[in-house]
Amino acid sequence: MNPLDIYRILPRINCGECPAGTCMAFAVRLSGGEAQVSECVKLTEGARDELMRMLSDSEPGDWKERYLEELIDEFSRINLNKVADGIGAEVKGEALVIRYMGRDVMVSASGIDGGLDIWDKLLVLMYIRNAGGRRPSGRWIAFRDLKDGSIKSAGFRAMCEEPLSRMFDKDRERLLRALSELGAERIGGYSTEHSYIIHPLPMIPFLILLWPAEEEFATQCSVLLDETATDFLDVEALTFLGQALVRALKRLS
Ligand code: SF4
Repeated sequence: MNPLDIYRILPRINCGECPAGTCMAFAVRLSGGEAQVSECVKLTEGARDELMRMLSDSEPGDWKERYLEELIDEFSRINLNKVADGIGAEVKGEALVIRYMGRDVMVSASGIDGGLDIWDKLLVLMYIRNAGGRRPSGRWIAFRDLKDGSIKSAGFRAMCEEPLSRMFDKDRERLLRALSELGAERIGGYSTEHSYIIHPLPMIPFLILLWPAEEEFATQCSVLLDETATDFLDVEALTFLGQALVRALKRLS
């Protein structure tokens, strides 16, 4: 069952009382069979019944694997030469080489190499399938200001900005080293010296701004996106891209 279908039924208040900590993380775990419906202590009886029914009705097998197969099938019908330039990829024979989280990944009709997990593969394939649109304009905006961004901005905050803020708080040097290993570039012109541009995917740059804790102010993190980001992935997928970035940084730090 798709985590987004689960998420829609959850209270979406991120109360933090389940082991997952946020409603989106709980939805992802529940869809993967790594959590129990009863772990959400805020569900109404009606919502609990609906979730139980949906879970028992869902097809056996993993939806992610099925979705991956569909996307690879779509990929096999794409004209690679037509899409490559618009998404910042390179055609190599029958494959596309694309930079994802700081490394080159080869995508072909037989799959994706490069040791990616299934979430990463889905993101790369959705990005290729959408085939982009405008080039990044250099105009940075908050997630909530993207098309439909207000619906997912709390999820993006919980899955990307807050974990980054905690990592910065816990061990600043490790996080900065990991950012550098993923190809982040430090830039000036913002109200913090910790301002970085990173490209999780070639045409989807993130501007990461980190403010260290100071006196009564806690550490803060804002991640801005180019106004064209939703030409490449919708806001739900962008939320998962933010989460994938955090995962990649954690692996390195
Ligand atoms: S207990 Fe329920 S409402 Fe609270 S964060 Fe977890 S899923 Fe969300």
